[in-house]
Amino acid sequence: MNELEQEIHTLSEQLAAYQKAYYVDNRPLVSDLEYDRLFDRLVALEAKHPHLKRADSPTQRVGSDLDSTLGEVAHTIPVLSLDKAYGDGELLAWIEKTEAKIGEDVGIVIEEKIDGISIVLYYEDGLLVRAVTRGNGMVGNDVTANVKTIASIPLRLPTEANLAVRGEIYLPKANFATLNASLEVPFANPRNLAAGTIRRIKSSEVAKVPLQIFVYEGFSKDVVQSDHLQILSTLASYGFRLNPNLGYFAKDGVQARQALEAAGLSGFGGSFSDLASYIQEHTLKRSSLDYEIDGLVAKVNSVSAREMLGYTGHHPRWALAYKFESPQAQTVLQSIDVQV
Ligand code: NAD
Repeated sequence: MNELEQEIHTLSEQLAAYQKAYYVDNRPLVSDLEYDRLFDRLVALEAKHPHLKRADSPTQRVGSDLDSTLGEVAHTIPVLSLDKAYGDGELLAWIEKTEAKIGEDVGIVIEEKIDGISIVLYYEDGLLVRAVTRGNGMVGNDVTANVKTIASIPLRLPTEANLAVRGEIYLPKANFATLNASLEVPFANPRNLAAGTIRRIKSSEVAKVPLQIFVYEGFSKDVVQSDHLQILSTLASYGFRLNPNLGYFAKDGVQARQALEAAGLSGFGGSFSDLASYIQEHTLKRSSLDYEIDGLVAKVNSVSAREMLGYTGHHPRWALAYKFESPQAQTVLQSIDVQV
């Protein structure tokens, strides 16, 4: 192996080990920032030398949280990761590129990126029949009995529709410190504690942990929706818990505000020129929230535009995660420290 091949090999092995520790054991070995730095390095090397990309590269698939001690269920919808950007310049460039691809103006919904456990709730004829973890994106673990202990998740909908709902289960920050202090081996953060809890064998133990949920996507052949705002509004009318911190941006800020109002949703509506200050405000607001977020998610509003853009094996092309902290910036800071 030459030096380059060796670096790609080492990064792939390291990232695979870090993924297992994070997703399966819920005991991360490194910080998210360090993980993202190594991941971005591997992405950059693979882009420059595509012939050296390994078929099993961690960049080519969703980080798997499959647990072999729990039952497995195949997903019927795409349950993927997100592509990511740092800084509003990258986000605005992505919006422009997306507009160019679909050949028309887009409306962009901005949601908080909840740092919890990804879950898919499957409803058949209006009844919650299965709750499944993200797993490897194609197959997840069946955690239905545990998820049913979360009181804010409707067990029956006011419609007989078949529906798949994506959301994030989290543990409020306020409950984390007390709960963690009572454990023999404490968890590093609320996300890890929540992830460990949702995979417990006994649902009676899960019921003692005050887990919460925000839902953010709905897929149904029975309920046809033309855009994401309508999907969110329908989910709210079915009794699901939505995150109220929502933004909707379009070329024309007045139209964006009207669209939010028409969907009966609260939130901020504005033009793309308001986006940078919205992000800045949210970055400051982050520490005052009762749950952890690690960024924002930008999503194309129109369902037909989403269908046109499609998916890679790792993420939808119609959404982008805006991460608050850049591993590059961290590296620069560290090297300044060293020089001083
Ligand atoms: P991601 O960063 O690619 O984000 C995708 C996930 O965001 C979705 O699966 C969904 O569950 C969640 N999400 C939250 N709010 C959402 C919303 N409003 N709309 C849509 N999705 C929303 O997540 P990932 O693929 O699970 O993990 C990658 C990240 O996890 C890394 O960037 C890193 O920060 C962290 N990680 C850390 C380690 C470590 O060792 N510290 C290891 C692996 C991963």
